Formats: sequence, C-alpha cells, structure tokens
Amino acid sequence: MSKDRLYLFDTTLRDGAQTAGIEFSLEDKISIAALLEEIGVDYVEGGFPGANVIDDQFFAEKRTQKARFTAFGMTKRAGRSVSNDPGVQAVLNARSDAACYVAKTSPRQVKIALGISLEENLDGLRETVAATVAAGKEALIDCEHFFDGYKEDPAYALKCVKTALDAGARWVVLCDTNGGTMPSEVEAIVTAVLKVAPGDHIGIHAHDDTGQAVANSLAAVRAGARQIQGTLNGIGERCGNANLVTLIPTLLLKPVFSDHLETGISLEQLTHLTQVSRAFDEILNRAPARQAPYVGASAFATKAGIHASALAKDFPLTSTCRPKASVMSAPSW
Ligand SMILES: [Zn+2]
Repeated sequence: MSKDRLYLFDTTLRDGAQTAGIEFSLEDKISIAALLEEIGVDYVEGGFPGANVIDDQFFAEKRTQKARFTAFGMTKRAGRSVSNDPGVQAVLNARSDAACYVAKTSPRQVKIALGISLEENLDGLRETVAATVAAGKEALIDCEHFFDGYKEDPAYALKCVKTALDAGARWVVLCDTNGGTMPSEVEAIVTAVLKVAPGDHIGIHAHDDTGQAVANSLAAVRAGARQIQGTLNGIGERCGNANLVTLIPTLLLKPVFSDHLETGISLEQLTHLTQVSRAFDEILNRAPARQAPYVGASAFATKAGIHASALAKDFPLTSTCRPKASVMSAPSW
C-alpha cells in the first residue's frame, strides 16, 4: 500500500525570528537554511521581504537547493489592486519558489482588526493567490486564528479555505495562533475542514502556549492534514512554535504515523538531527536543552532504579520505551 506524503514546512527564519532576544543576521540565515537542507524539510520560509533590509538581502538570491524557498507576506489590502500593493509586490519579486500569505478567517477579526467587509477579505484572498500563481509561484495561505474563527463562524472560516483553494492555493494552513486549542478540538475541526477540502492541501501551524503544539500538529495529521509547519528546537513568539526536532523522529519512528505516512526525510538524514539541533543552539548562543526529547543529553539516559532494572531484564514494557539507538545515536560532542 502506498503511503501518503506528509510535507514539512520550516518557519524558523520567519515565525521563529519573532522569539524574544533572537535576531538573525544575513549570515545566520544562510547558515540556518543550510542546516534545514541537511535535515531535508520540504519548505524553508526565509522571512518577510519588504519588511526589513536583512530579509530583502536574503531574498535577493534563492537560498535553497532542494527545499522550496518561501517568502512570507500579507494578502492584498482592501481598496488597492495587487499591482499597487507594495507588500504583495515585494513577495512576488523575491527570488523564491513559493509565497505564504497570512490572512484572517475570523469575521470578528476581519471587521475589527482590518475594518473591512467579509466580502472584501475574500476578494483579497482570491486576488493575492491568483496573482501569485500567475507569477509562477506556489501559493500558500496561513489562516491566522483559524480555530477560534471556526468556533465563532464555521461557515465563514470554511468559505475562506474554499476561496483560497479555488483561486489556486497549493496549501491552506490552519493556524492555532494563540496556542489555546486542545488536541481533541484540532482533530474535530480539521476533520470538519476536510469535508470541504482535500487533506493533501491542508496544513497545521501550532503554537505552544499550552504545551501542546506538537500534540496539536499530530492531531491535525491524524485527522488528515498533510503539511506541518514548525521550527528548529521549537523557537517562536511567546512559548514557541511546534518543534520540528521532536516531530520528525516521532513521524519517522512511530508506526502509528510511519506505517502510512512518508516525509521527505530519510533515516540517514534523521541521524543528523541531534547535530543540527545543537548547531542551531550554537548559532543562537544557547546551551542545548538537556531534556529535549530525542536529542537532549538526557534523552534515553536511564538512572539506576526500577526502570533500569527492567531494561536489564528486557521487561516487555521497555520495547515501547527503548530508543532505536542505531538511528538516534547522539554525536560524540
Ligand atoms: Zn505563528
């Protein structure tokens, strides 16, 4: 039976750059893009062209060989055409393969934050996606506060998803922007979205404000979403984004996912993950988290006690706990 392809979208250089105390130089961005290529993610979102000088310089060249190099921006403003919107033009003129635009899908936010009509918001989505496709780029829409918007008005939230897909968006990404949605809610709402949209065009972007960004990403995948957005070591605004360094081994090693899903990452590339995670910490000038799942110095280290005793006796319980040492061995440094 062929497996479903699951795509991994890294936003370390865009959403991760919102982390308090982190500011990437151009050289940092180039080094981090190389680390992401080493792991083998499908998309590298490099930043926000038109928003600052470093991102303009970064997008003056294509910075990836294999991953789809992605620029971030906002959908067209109401009251002006795409060709007269400098933000959209900066994204379209970037040397990128794909463009990801944030859009609002909650009626309350459209009215209060944007001050425009619900129809104008849909027009902005439609025209921005169409212009991106016409420019020969892949279009993605990040639906900000999607889960809260869906709870407020499911029909309008779904209308936004359909409008973007009908205009030619490759992906519509459902964002839990404030990180407050529970995994059971994510699974139920993604299931409802997939009644009107194909799962291989739906992504998840989860924040970690309740410590559930990884769980929420996996809940969306269980419901049928086929793209996950996250960052290296889970960096990101406030409590961070979904941690790709935790998600990747889970997706590749846990049969509940690996039996029916495949990513663009090989088992050989998985062996680089610890090294990449630590090299990234080095760029951030941070000590690696000892207790990070899979890659921390304490991962798989069992202190003497009943668990160690059970391991020694090869107690059957340990077969589910024991690491695949050959795959996840830590580097010697
Ligand atoms: Zn975000």
